Amino acid sequence: MNGEAHSAIDRPQFASLLESMSNGAIAVDSDRTVVYANRGALGMLGQRREAVVGQAVSGAFRVFFERAQSRTAADRLARFEHFYDGNWYIIQVFPLLGADGLSETPYTIVTATDISERKKREFEFLEIAAGLEEATRIAEMGTFKVLWGSLAIQWSPHAYIIHGVRPETYHPGGGNYAELVHPEDRGFVTRAGRELVEGKPVANLQYRIVRPDGVVRWMRMDGRILFDSSGAGYASFGTIQDITDAKQREHELQELLKRNAILYEALEASPIGVAVLTAEESGLSMLYVNAAFERLTQHNSYSLNVDGLRALVADGDRDQWQSIADYLTRSEPGSFDASCRRRDGTVFPARIELAPVRDYPGREATAFVVNLRDMTSDRERAAALLQSQKMEALGQLSGGVAHEINNLLQPVIALSDLGGDVLGKDTEKARKYFEVIGGSGRKAREVVRQVLTFARRDTPQLSAQDVVPLVADAVNLAAKGLPPQLDVKTDIRLTEARAVISATQVSQVMLNLLRNASDAMKGQGVVTVTLNEETVVDGAPKLAGLKPGRWIKLTVQDTGCGMDRDTLSRVFEPFFTTKPVGKGTGLGLSVVYSIVAGWGGTISLDSEVDRGTTAVIYIPLHS
Ligand code: ADP
Ligand code: MG
Repeated sequence: MNGEAHSAIDRPQFASLLESMSNGAIAVDSDRTVVYANRGALGMLGQRREAVVGQAVSGAFRVFFERAQSRTAADRLARFEHFYDGNWYIIQVFPLLGADGLSETPYTIVTATDISERKKREFEFLEIAAGLEEATRIAEMGTFKVLWGSLAIQWSPHAYIIHGVRPETYHPGGGNYAELVHPEDRGFVTRAGRELVEGKPVANLQYRIVRPDGVVRWMRMDGRILFDSSGAGYASFGTIQDITDAKQREHELQELLKRNAILYEALEASPIGVAVLTAEESGLSMLYVNAAFERLTQHNSYSLNVDGLRALVADGDRDQWQSIADYLTRSEPGSFDASCRRRDGTVFPARIELAPVRDYPGREATAFVVNLRDMTSDRERAAALLQSQKMEALGQLSGGVAHEINNLLQPVIALSDLGGDVLGKDTEKARKYFEVIGGSGRKAREVVRQVLTFARRDTPQLSAQDVVPLVADAVNLAAKGLPPQLDVKTDIRLTEARAVISATQVSQVMLNLLRNASDAMKGQGVVTVTLNEETVVDGAPKLAGLKPGRWIKLTVQDTGCGMDRDTLSRVFEPFFTTKPVGKGTGLGLSVVYSIVAGWGGTISLDSEVDRGTTAVIYIPLHS
């Protein structure tokens, strides 16, 4: 710096100039000697004026000065922020001009303003902003701000990302957000947006958007109001979060809960006793027992504690129960017949089935399902069912049988009377009368025999017999109880066909099928009973379900009212009937079904509404 105007400025002038500055300031002459330092500068340097003035520039100011010179090699005016000794300063270094404002002086002014406080706030803000951005990114959350004055809308970068739009092409504002919102949700989203600008916060507004690429996503919006220092609201600030995944999980959870509820109800409704045991380190524990299990054992999951199943062990049957325990420890499935003790001490024969539950195949079982069935009641119920149906069938028969026997008795009585008259007069005539009487008597005895076979109470003994005469007999017997306008045709294409069956049961089957046919035809028309043989070879599609081999095929075909699909699917249910009270019991076909199953055979019904029904029975041929 040129030293020409050196004397143009004296110290008092520096004093009034520099002391008027609120920051620290010094004046330095061209050979770096401090010519004045104001109070602020002395404070910053922590020194008295005498130690500074007249000395070479030192301390903080020397650093500032040198830094300014290096920064402004070309430009001699410098203003910069500088960190020194734990504080932030704004440094200004400028040459002092002469009174004319143009001429140069040899003096340079260095001022330093401590901006540490402001800096600190700024950093804090940056940190918060960075944290917020990071948080919003992690939370898949965008932020928005609506300035009420201009209605300008600002979006954070992430707001664009979650909406699938780009800042270059999408400009939020002017009500165009609605375009992104799913049409069905537009109404309430637009309303909430309007309210937000009117100063009403929004909380947990959930809606769908449709991204420009067509993808539908779930959003959650929360918005609040920003107030200025006077307490007046000036903007809305809010977050928008992509909650699609959470929604999906929520939906899946709902579905899962619904499914669990259904499974639970299903288990409760099961007629079979079901208990679930979980395998824990301390042993097995009873997790659940269903209503049927409680009913059967009179226990509940609380009274069946850790060694729960042991409570069910009947005194005489410890061995069997021990083997059940062994299966449990080995995680093996099994089926057992054992005596089971109820809570009141009574015992019933039970079938117990164990099924281990594993997380992965090959792993140890984590739980067991125990099925419990009361076998007595099953057997008794089945026997009662059969018996009651037989009594019903017998009832149906008796009218016809009485009529038949009455018819047979008529010639017996009439000819006995007439026989007395011709006796000893016309031997030939008398012999004829006796023949007719004997024939009628034998026929009556045959009818009675049939009825007795049928009505016998004992459980039928199955034995290998010729089906042909049994079916013919059964048709005859059944026809007696059927309306006379019903024409039962038989088409028997076998001379002999042996099967392991019982005569009583054949009667019962035919009686039930013919009864149904008669009912379907209102007691009028033709029913055809056929009997033939069929051979099932491997893979024959028509008779799928039947094992390869020789079968006797028995069909009963009517041309009655037929059945719709619904009825057809239920005919084998016990007590299912479409007939008025007193007419049907709904037991016929379920009994036929169990009889045929007992022979190792099958029965199926083919039916068409208004055209008729064909019952097809396959019985294994005994060779
Ligand atoms: P029930 O005869 O006492 O009603 P079934 O078990 O014999 O009981 O038959 C059950 C139901 O199946 C009948 O109520 C009827 O609706 C239907 N059904 C059985 N056989 C026939 C048939 N041949 N034609 C039409 N419907 C039939
Ligand atoms: Mg019936």
